[in-house]
Amino acid sequence: MSGPFKILALGGDHIGPEVVTSGLEVLRHTAAQFDVPIEIEEDLLGGVSWDAHGTFCTDGVAAKARAADAVLVGAVGGPKWDSIRVDGPITETDGLTRLRIELDVFNALRPARSWKPLLSRTPYRKDVVDGADLLVVRENAGGIYYGEPRGREVLPDGQTRAFEISEYRTHEVERIARCAFEAARGRRNHVTSLDKSNVMESGRLWRETVDRIGREEFPDVKLDHLLMDYALYAVARAPRNFDVLLADNLFGDLMSDLVAVVSGSLGMLPSATLPAVAQADRPVKGGIYEPTHGSAPDISGQGIANPIGAILSVGMMFEYGFGVAPAARSIEQAVERVLLAGLLPLDLGGNASTAQITHAVLLNLQPNSSL
Ligand code: NAD
Repeated sequence: MSGPFKILALGGDHIGPEVVTSGLEVLRHTAAQFDVPIEIEEDLLGGVSWDAHGTFCTDGVAAKARAADAVLVGAVGGPKWDSIRVDGPITETDGLTRLRIELDVFNALRPARSWKPLLSRTPYRKDVVDGADLLVVRENAGGIYYGEPRGREVLPDGQTRAFEISEYRTHEVERIARCAFEAARGRRNHVTSLDKSNVMESGRLWRETVDRIGREEFPDVKLDHLLMDYALYAVARAPRNFDVLLADNLFGDLMSDLVAVVSGSLGMLPSATLPAVAQADRPVKGGIYEPTHGSAPDISGQGIANPIGAILSVGMMFEYGFGVAPAARSIEQAVERVLLAGLLPLDLGGNASTAQITHAVLLNLQPNSSL
C-alpha cells in the first residue's frame, strides 16, 4: 500500500464541523486498526471561510484539495450566507461547488439501504422497505447547475427573468453511464436510468447515450429507463425493485433525498464523489466524501446531530479512496451494532448525542467488543 494518504478535512458550517469531528475520530481509529498510514489537515469552507477570508473557498484550500488523496466535507451554508451573491460564476458563490469543479468529481455515489434495527423508524411498512439497498449514481459536474448562460435580467415590461440552461455533452453522459454500469456489476447488475426525455432535449441525449453504452460495453447489465416523475413514485412505492439509479445532476439530487427515507433519516446517508469510475481495490485519488445532508442550522451547536452519514462517508473513503474495502465493512458493522443496541440519535427518535453515538461506534470497532 502506498501512503501516507493525505486527507483534507473541511467541516464547513453549522453541524458540518460537529459531524466531521466524529468522522475524523472514526478515520483515525480505523486507519490505525487496518494499518493505513494517513495525514490529516483541517481548513475552512463555506460560510466560515467567507467570514474569515471574504470568499467561500480560498485558492489555498482549493490547492490543498487538489493535492489531497481524499477530502472530507461536513456541509456548507446557512441563513447568514445563503443570500450572498458574488459576481462571476456559481463557483464564487458556493465553495463546495468550486471544489467539485476544481476536482472534476463527476461521479457521485450515494448509497441508501434499509437497516434492520430502523425498520420501524421509517414511514414505510416493514415488508416494503426490508432489504432495500439502493445506489444513486448522480452526475455531479454538469447539467443545469453549471450550464451557461445563467442569470437574471429585467425585461422592458418590468418583469424579472431568471434563467439557467440544462446541457449535457455526449462524453459527460458516457462517463457517468460507465460509472453506473460498473457499480451495478459489483451489486445486483441492474441499472435504472432516469430522465425527462419526453420533454427535454438534454434528456433525449441522456437516454440515447446511456442506452448505447449499455448495449455496446455492458451487455451483461440489465438496463431500464424511467421518466423522472414516474421514477419518484415507483421508487417510493417499491424501493426493493431497484438497484442502481442513474441520474443527471438535478434529478440525482432529488432522488438521493427521496431514498434517504429507506434508511430512516437524512442523517444516515453517506456519499463519495469521485473523479473517475470506482473499481474494487483500486484507490481513486481526489474524491470528496461527505454526508448527503445539509448544515442543519436548526439543530447546530446542540451536540445532537446524527454523525452516522459522516461516519459512513469515512467508510466510503477507505473503500474508494484507499482501496481498503474491509475497513468500510467494519465501519458499517459497527454502526449496525450501535443501532441494534438501541442507541439512536434524535432524528431517529432516540436521545443519544453526537458524541455518544460516535463513542459507541468507536467501541464497536474494537475487535470482539460491543456496547
Ligand atoms: P438540511 O439537510 O440541512 O436539513 C433538513 C432537515 O434535516 C433539518 O430539519 C435538519 O435538522 C435535519 N437534518 C439534516 N442532517 C441531520 C443530521 N445529521 N442529524 C439530524 N438531523 C439532520 O437541509 P436544509 O435545511 O434544506 O438546508 C440547510 C442548509 O444546508 C442550507 O444552507 C443549504 O443550502 C445547505 N445544504 C448544504 C449541503 C451540502 O453542503 N452538501 C446540502 C444540502 C443543503
